[in-house]
Amino acid sequence: MWQTRYSYNPDTFTFERKKISRREALRMFGVCAVVGVVLAIGFVIQSEVRYGGLEALWLRQSNEVLFQQIVARDRDLAHLENQLEKVHSNDNGFYRSLLNMPRTDLAVWNAGKGGSLEQQLPEGIRQLRARMFRLGYKINLQNQSLAEVEKTARYNSEELRHMPAIKPLGTRVLSGFGYRMSPFHGGSEFHSGLDFHAQYGTPIRATGEGKIITAGFTESGYGLQVEIQHGFGYVTKYAHMSQTKVMVGDKVERNQIIGYSGNSGLSTGPHLHYEVIRNGAKVNPYDYFYSE
Ligand SMILES: [Zn+2]
Repeated sequence: MWQTRYSYNPDTFTFERKKISRREALRMFGVCAVVGVVLAIGFVIQSEVRYGGLEALWLRQSNEVLFQQIVARDRDLAHLENQLEKVHSNDNGFYRSLLNMPRTDLAVWNAGKGGSLEQQLPEGIRQLRARMFRLGYKINLQNQSLAEVEKTARYNSEELRHMPAIKPLGTRVLSGFGYRMSPFHGGSEFHSGLDFHAQYGTPIRATGEGKIITAGFTESGYGLQVEIQHGFGYVTKYAHMSQTKVMVGDKVERNQIIGYSGNSGLSTGPHLHYEVIRNGAKVNPYDYFYSE
């Protein structure tokens, strides 16, 4: 196409096709090529002078993007670290002290070291990696601690439900725990429980959750008695009853009526003899009453 040209002839009012000589065409091509080369050289020189090269310009731009990304991740990480420290301080200062558990060791908490520090990585990235590693270490530690707290809390609430924590009946105590004058022989004797005043037939309640291990008459002087195994080392005994409402193997809740008071066995009148046995030793039931 570049070989043909059109020119307007005012005499004939027409465009006339005009052949371009080979020489003229070469000359035009030469001019275009020179202008193109000059422009390209100019652009390269300018970018070298202003930005230190095209490649450098591109690198600088992508570096800037990366830097912004690192700054953003740094902020995210700081936020997570902050949250975790709050969880840890709640765990230590509140839950553990509430449950009487030892505090976590601060030296262990702060012991998490960064991963393998790769020397070829820029300092900022290495620091980020080290912090990520510490965060993972602490989350793991915190998980273990919370699992421990949960277990203790569950154990404690179980124990509280089973402990003999209330009075078996709401009447006054006639005789306390410890040495006293025997009502039978007048000498000193050890009284291994509490005697509650009780009209014949007063309902007697289980003082904590447990399982019935004795329900019936015994020759030991306790008469008709019930014993409850509460677990956690506790057994309670209810003696001199007139009637039992449970059988061996029954599970009972705290407050559940297990029988009625009476005067059976070695007794000088209707009353309830109540004992708390902790790890095989008779202890003062007073120490376990929740509201005393
Ligand atoms: Zn007694």
